[in-house]
Amino acid sequence: MTTPKHIAVIGGGTMGNGIAHVFAQNGFHVTLIDVKQELLDRALNTIAGNLDRQIKKGTLTDADKTQTLSNLTPTTDLAGGVKSADVIIEAVNENTELKKSIFRTVDEHAKPEATICSNTSSISLTELAAATKRPDKVIGMHFMNPVPVMKLVEIVRAIQTSDETHRLVEETAKAIGKVPVTVNDYPGFISNRVLMPMINEAIQCVYENVATPEAIDEIMKLGMAHPMGPLTLADFIGLDVCLAIMNVLHDGFNDSKYRPSPLLKNMVAAGYLGRKSGRGFYKYD
Ligand code: NAD
Repeated sequence: MTTPKHIAVIGGGTMGNGIAHVFAQNGFHVTLIDVKQELLDRALNTIAGNLDRQIKKGTLTDADKTQTLSNLTPTTDLAGGVKSADVIIEAVNENTELKKSIFRTVDEHAKPEATICSNTSSISLTELAAATKRPDKVIGMHFMNPVPVMKLVEIVRAIQTSDETHRLVEETAKAIGKVPVTVNDYPGFISNRVLMPMINEAIQCVYENVATPEAIDEIMKLGMAHPMGPLTLADFIGLDVCLAIMNVLHDGFNDSKYRPSPLLKNMVAAGYLGRKSGRGFYKYD
Protein backbone atom coordinates (compact mmCIF):
# COMPACT_ATOMS: atom_id res chain seq x y z
CA MET A 1 0.00 0.00 0.00
CA THR A 2 1.58 3.31 -1.08
CA THR A 3 0.75 6.39 0.95
CA PRO A 4 -1.17 8.91 -1.14
CA LYS A 5 0.49 12.27 -1.77
CA HIS A 6 -1.77 13.92 -4.30
CA ILE A 7 -5.48 14.43 -3.54
CA ALA A 8 -8.06 15.79 -5.96
CA VAL A 9 -11.20 17.31 -4.42
CA ILE A 10 -14.18 17.78 -6.76
CA GLY A 11 -16.52 20.60 -5.68
CA GLY A 12 -15.27 23.62 -3.76
CA GLY A 13 -18.46 24.34 -1.78
CA THR A 14 -19.02 24.11 1.98
CA MET A 15 -17.53 20.62 2.30
CA GLY A 16 -15.08 20.59 -0.61
CA ASN A 17 -13.18 23.69 0.52
CA GLY A 18 -12.98 22.28 4.06
CA ILE A 19 -11.66 18.94 2.79
CA ALA A 20 -9.10 20.68 0.54
CA HIS A 21 -8.08 22.86 3.50
CA VAL A 22 -7.27 19.97 5.87
CA PHE A 23 -5.36 17.94 3.29
CA ALA A 24 -3.31 20.97 2.16
CA GLN A 25 -2.58 21.91 5.78
CA ASN A 26 -1.28 18.39 6.39
CA GLY A 27 1.23 18.55 3.53
CA PHE A 28 -0.71 16.86 0.71
CA HIS A 29 -0.68 18.34 -2.76
CA VAL A 30 -4.35 19.16 -3.44
CA THR A 31 -6.06 19.89 -6.74
CA LEU A 32 -9.39 21.61 -6.13
CA ILE A 33 -11.89 21.29 -8.98
CA ASP A 34 -15.09 23.26 -9.57
CA VAL A 35 -17.12 24.33 -12.59
CA LYS A 36 -16.31 28.07 -12.58
CA GLN A 37 -13.21 30.11 -11.73
CA GLU A 38 -15.27 32.43 -9.50
CA LEU A 39 -16.35 29.44 -7.38
CA LEU A 40 -12.72 28.38 -7.01
CA ASP A 41 -11.76 31.96 -6.05
CA ARG A 42 -14.51 31.95 -3.43
CA ALA A 43 -13.34 28.56 -2.08
CA LEU A 44 -9.72 29.74 -1.80
CA ASN A 45 -10.87 32.96 -0.06
CA THR A 46 -12.85 30.88 2.44
CA ILE A 47 -9.81 28.67 3.09
CA ALA A 48 -7.55 31.74 3.54
CA GLY A 49 -10.09 33.27 5.97
CA ASN A 50 -10.31 30.04 7.97
CA LEU A 51 -6.50 29.79 8.11
CA ASP A 52 -6.40 33.39 9.41
CA ARG A 53 -8.80 32.38 12.16
CA GLN A 54 -6.46 29.52 13.13
CA ILE A 55 -3.52 32.00 13.22
CA LYS A 56 -5.53 34.31 15.51
CA LYS A 57 -6.21 31.35 17.83
CA GLY A 58 -2.47 30.60 17.88
CA THR A 59 -2.81 27.13 16.37
CA LEU A 60 -1.09 28.07 13.07
CA THR A 61 1.74 30.37 11.93
CA ASP A 62 1.88 32.73 8.94
CA ALA A 63 4.43 30.39 7.37
CA ASP A 64 1.98 27.44 7.77
CA LYS A 65 -0.69 29.49 5.98
CA THR A 66 1.66 30.28 3.07
CA GLN A 67 2.68 26.62 2.83
CA THR A 68 -0.95 25.42 2.97
CA LEU A 69 -2.07 27.80 0.22
CA SER A 70 0.92 26.81 -1.95
CA ASN A 71 -0.18 23.14 -1.67
CA LEU A 72 -3.49 24.01 -3.38
CA THR A 73 -3.99 24.05 -7.16
CA PRO A 74 -7.43 25.20 -8.37
CA THR A 75 -8.75 24.14 -11.77
CA THR A 76 -11.98 23.92 -13.76
CA ASP A 77 -10.60 20.96 -15.76
CA LEU A 78 -12.05 17.79 -14.21
CA ALA A 79 -10.29 15.28 -16.49
CA GLY A 80 -6.88 17.02 -16.18
CA GLY A 81 -7.31 17.67 -12.45
CA VAL A 82 -7.73 14.01 -11.48
CA LYS A 83 -5.09 12.62 -13.87
CA SER A 84 -2.23 12.33 -11.40
CA ALA A 85 -4.23 12.10 -8.15
CA ASP A 86 -3.79 9.09 -5.83
CA VAL A 87 -7.10 9.69 -4.01
CA ILE A 88 -10.05 11.57 -5.50
CA ILE A 89 -12.76 12.91 -3.19
CA GLU A 90 -16.03 13.96 -4.80
CA ALA A 91 -17.96 16.64 -2.88
CA VAL A 92 -20.44 18.02 -5.42
CA ASN A 93 -24.16 18.60 -4.80
CA GLU A 94 -26.21 15.70 -3.40
CA ASN A 95 -27.58 14.45 -6.73
CA THR A 96 -27.24 10.81 -7.77
CA GLU A 97 -27.12 11.40 -11.55
CA LEU A 98 -24.55 14.23 -11.20
CA LYS A 99 -22.35 12.10 -8.94
CA LYS A 100 -22.60 9.06 -11.23
CA SER A 101 -21.60 11.12 -14.26
CA ILE A 102 -18.61 12.54 -12.36
CA PHE A 103 -17.60 9.04 -11.21
CA ARG A 104 -17.67 7.85 -14.86
CA THR A 105 -15.46 10.76 -16.01
CA VAL A 106 -13.06 10.31 -13.10
CA ASP A 107 -12.85 6.56 -13.75
CA GLU A 108 -11.92 7.26 -17.35
CA HIS A 109 -9.18 9.81 -16.61
CA ALA A 110 -7.70 8.88 -13.21
CA LYS A 111 -4.75 6.50 -12.79
CA PRO A 112 -5.96 2.86 -12.73
CA GLU A 113 -4.73 2.43 -9.15
CA ALA A 114 -6.36 5.65 -7.84
CA THR A 115 -9.06 5.44 -5.15
CA ILE A 116 -12.36 7.26 -5.75
CA CYS A 117 -14.29 8.49 -2.70
CA SER A 118 -17.56 10.32 -2.24
CA ASN A 119 -18.46 12.67 0.60
CA THR A 120 -22.16 11.93 0.03
CA SER A 121 -24.44 12.16 3.08
CA SER A 122 -26.93 9.61 1.83
CA ILE A 123 -26.42 8.33 -1.72
CA SER A 124 -25.59 4.62 -2.10
CA LEU A 125 -21.83 4.03 -2.48
CA THR A 126 -22.66 0.65 -3.98
CA GLU A 127 -24.52 2.40 -6.80
CA LEU A 128 -21.69 4.93 -7.36
CA ALA A 129 -19.12 2.10 -7.36
CA ALA A 130 -21.18 0.24 -9.98
CA ALA A 131 -20.92 3.28 -12.29
CA THR A 132 -17.14 2.68 -12.54
CA LYS A 133 -14.88 -0.07 -13.87
CA ARG A 134 -13.02 -0.12 -10.52
CA PRO A 135 -15.82 -0.75 -7.97
CA ASP A 136 -13.30 -2.28 -5.52
CA LYS A 137 -11.54 1.10 -5.33
CA VAL A 138 -14.68 3.12 -4.46
CA ILE A 139 -15.55 4.06 -0.87
CA GLY A 140 -17.32 6.79 1.13
CA MET A 141 -15.38 9.37 3.10
CA HIS A 142 -18.18 11.21 4.89
CA PHE A 143 -16.65 14.29 6.50
CA MET A 144 -18.58 16.36 9.02
CA ASN A 145 -19.24 20.11 8.80
CA PRO A 146 -17.15 22.22 9.52
CA VAL A 147 -14.42 19.91 8.21
CA PRO A 148 -11.38 21.66 9.77
CA VAL A 149 -13.03 21.37 13.22
CA MET A 150 -14.87 18.03 13.28
CA LYS A 151 -12.78 14.93 14.04
CA LEU A 152 -15.02 12.22 12.59
CA VAL A 153 -14.82 10.73 9.12
CA GLU A 154 -17.54 8.11 8.62
CA ILE A 155 -15.96 5.59 6.25
CA VAL A 156 -18.67 3.91 4.18
CA ARG A 157 -17.84 0.56 2.60
CA ALA A 158 -19.77 -0.34 -0.54
CA ILE A 159 -20.47 -4.05 -1.07
CA GLN A 160 -17.71 -4.01 -3.72
CA THR A 161 -15.04 -2.10 -1.69
CA SER A 162 -11.83 -4.10 -1.19
CA ASP A 163 -10.03 -4.46 2.15
CA GLU A 164 -7.01 -2.70 0.64
CA THR A 165 -9.08 0.35 -0.35
CA HIS A 166 -10.60 0.41 3.11
CA ARG A 167 -7.18 0.28 4.80
CA LEU A 168 -5.78 3.01 2.55
CA VAL A 169 -8.66 5.38 3.26
CA GLU A 170 -8.50 4.73 7.01
CA GLU A 171 -4.78 5.56 6.98
CA THR A 172 -5.42 8.65 4.84
CA ALA A 173 -8.03 9.93 7.32
CA LYS A 174 -5.59 9.39 10.21
CA ALA A 175 -2.84 11.23 8.29
CA ILE A 176 -4.94 14.42 8.42
CA GLY A 177 -5.69 14.05 12.14
CA LYS A 178 -9.21 12.65 11.75
CA VAL A 179 -10.79 9.65 13.45
CA PRO A 180 -12.18 7.18 10.88
CA VAL A 181 -15.15 5.03 11.90
CA THR A 182 -16.28 2.39 9.41
CA VAL A 183 -19.84 1.42 8.57
CA ASN A 184 -21.49 -0.54 5.76
CA ASP A 185 -23.42 1.07 2.94
CA TYR A 186 -27.11 1.15 3.89
CA PRO A 187 -29.47 4.16 3.69
CA GLY A 188 -28.33 7.06 5.88
CA PHE A 189 -25.21 5.08 6.94
CA ILE A 190 -25.10 5.47 10.76
CA SER A 191 -24.76 9.22 11.31
CA ASN A 192 -27.90 10.27 9.45
CA ARG A 193 -29.90 7.13 10.21
CA VAL A 194 -29.64 7.91 13.92
CA LEU A 195 -29.62 11.73 13.77
CA MET A 196 -32.36 12.47 11.22
CA PRO A 197 -35.22 10.49 12.82
CA MET A 198 -34.46 12.37 16.06
CA ILE A 199 -34.64 15.72 14.25
CA ASN A 200 -37.80 14.59 12.41
CA GLU A 201 -39.43 13.57 15.72
CA ALA A 202 -38.56 16.98 17.22
CA ILE A 203 -40.27 18.61 14.18
CA GLN A 204 -43.27 16.30 14.65
CA CYS A 205 -43.51 17.51 18.27
CA VAL A 206 -43.73 21.13 17.01
CA TYR A 207 -46.35 20.01 14.43
CA GLU A 208 -48.45 18.34 17.16
CA ASN A 209 -48.05 21.40 19.39
CA VAL A 210 -46.48 19.37 22.18
CA ALA A 211 -43.92 22.12 22.82
CA THR A 212 -42.26 25.15 21.23
CA PRO A 213 -38.97 24.80 19.29
CA GLU A 214 -37.24 26.69 22.14
CA ALA A 215 -38.58 24.25 24.75
CA ILE A 216 -37.64 21.17 22.71
CA ASP A 217 -34.09 22.46 22.13
CA GLU A 218 -33.69 23.38 25.79
CA ILE A 219 -34.82 19.90 26.91
CA MET A 220 -32.36 18.14 24.62
CA LYS A 221 -29.49 20.49 25.58
CA LEU A 222 -29.96 20.49 29.34
CA GLY A 223 -31.47 17.04 29.73
CA MET A 224 -29.44 15.01 27.26
CA ALA A 225 -26.24 17.10 27.18
CA HIS A 226 -26.55 17.76 23.45
CA PRO A 227 -24.37 20.77 22.52
CA MET A 228 -27.16 22.05 20.23
CA GLY A 229 -30.90 21.37 20.24
CA PRO A 230 -32.30 19.30 17.31
CA LEU A 231 -34.24 22.22 15.77
CA THR A 232 -31.25 24.59 15.94
CA LEU A 233 -29.24 21.80 14.33
CA ALA A 234 -31.90 21.26 11.64
CA ASP A 235 -31.74 24.98 10.76
CA PHE A 236 -27.93 24.72 10.60
CA ILE A 237 -27.97 21.64 8.32
CA GLY A 238 -30.76 23.05 6.10
CA LEU A 239 -34.35 21.80 6.21
CA ASP A 240 -34.21 20.82 2.52
CA VAL A 241 -31.22 18.58 3.30
CA CYS A 242 -33.07 17.06 6.30
CA LEU A 243 -36.11 16.33 4.10
CA ALA A 244 -33.95 14.79 1.35
CA ILE A 245 -32.28 12.48 3.88
CA MET A 246 -35.62 11.46 5.44
CA ASN A 247 -36.82 10.61 1.92
CA VAL A 248 -33.71 8.46 1.34
CA LEU A 249 -34.42 6.57 4.60
CA HIS A 250 -38.14 6.23 3.81
CA ASP A 251 -37.54 5.00 0.25
CA GLY A 252 -34.51 2.90 1.17
CA PHE A 253 -36.17 0.90 3.96
CA ASN A 254 -39.82 1.15 2.79
CA ASP A 255 -40.67 1.65 6.45
CA SER A 256 -43.24 4.23 7.61
CA LYS A 257 -41.23 4.95 10.75
CA TYR A 258 -39.02 7.14 8.54
CA ARG A 259 -41.86 9.23 7.03
CA PRO A 260 -40.95 12.94 6.99
CA SER A 261 -43.09 15.18 9.21
CA PRO A 262 -45.76 17.13 7.23
CA LEU A 263 -44.43 20.28 8.92
CA LEU A 264 -40.93 19.62 7.54
CA LYS A 265 -42.40 19.19 4.03
CA ASN A 266 -44.44 22.39 4.39
CA MET A 267 -41.50 24.46 5.61
CA VAL A 268 -39.33 23.30 2.70
CA ALA A 269 -42.16 24.06 0.24
CA ALA A 270 -42.40 27.57 1.72
CA GLY A 271 -38.66 28.13 1.32
CA TYR A 272 -38.06 28.20 5.08
CA LEU A 273 -34.79 26.28 4.84
CA GLY A 274 -33.09 27.39 8.06
CA ARG A 275 -30.00 29.57 8.40
CA LYS A 276 -29.25 29.74 4.68
CA SER A 277 -32.63 31.28 3.83
CA GLY A 278 -32.88 33.48 6.96
CA ARG A 279 -35.81 31.53 8.40
CA GLY A 280 -36.41 28.02 9.66
CA PHE A 281 -37.53 27.12 13.16
CA TYR A 282 -35.78 30.37 14.16
CA LYS A 283 -35.18 33.68 12.35
CA TYR A 284 -31.69 34.78 11.27
CA ASP A 285 -30.40 38.19 10.17
P1 NAD B 1 -22.26 22.93 -1.88
O1 NAD B 1 -23.50 23.23 -2.65
O2 NAD B 1 -21.80 23.90 -0.85
O3 NAD B 1 -21.05 22.67 -2.87
C1 NAD B 1 -21.13 21.86 -4.02
C2 NAD B 1 -20.08 22.33 -5.00
O4 NAD B 1 -19.96 21.37 -6.08
C3 NAD B 1 -20.40 23.69 -5.64
O5 NAD B 1 -19.31 24.58 -5.49
C4 NAD B 1 -20.64 23.33 -7.10
O6 NAD B 1 -20.29 24.37 -8.02
C5 NAD B 1 -19.74 22.11 -7.26
N1 NAD B 1 -20.07 21.31 -8.45
C6 NAD B 1 -21.30 21.01 -8.95
N2 NAD B 1 -21.16 20.28 -10.08
C7 NAD B 1 -19.83 20.11 -10.30
C8 NAD B 1 -19.06 19.47 -11.30
N3 NAD B 1 -19.65 18.85 -12.34
N4 NAD B 1 -17.71 19.51 -11.21
C9 NAD B 1 -17.10 20.16 -10.18
N5 NAD B 1 -17.78 20.80 -9.20
C10 NAD B 1 -19.12 20.77 -9.25
O7 NAD B 1 -22.53 21.48 -1.22
P2 NAD B 1 -21.90 20.88 0.14
O8 NAD B 1 -22.75 21.27 1.29
O9 NAD B 1 -20.44 21.17 0.14
O10 NAD B 1 -22.15 19.32 -0.09
C11 NAD B 1 -21.33 18.56 -0.93
C12 NAD B 1 -21.51 17.08 -0.61
O11 NAD B 1 -21.17 16.85 0.75
C13 NAD B 1 -22.93 16.56 -0.77
O12 NAD B 1 -22.90 15.25 -1.24
C14 NAD B 1 -23.50 16.61 0.65
O13 NAD B 1 -24.52 15.69 0.87
C15 NAD B 1 -22.25 16.23 1.44
N6 NAD B 1 -22.22 16.67 2.85
C16 NAD B 1 -22.65 17.91 3.20
C17 NAD B 1 -22.59 18.32 4.53
C18 NAD B 1 -23.01 19.70 4.95
O14 NAD B 1 -23.19 19.93 6.17
N7 NAD B 1 -23.15 20.65 4.04
C19 NAD B 1 -22.06 17.45 5.51
C20 NAD B 1 -21.60 16.18 5.11
C21 NAD B 1 -21.69 15.80 3.76
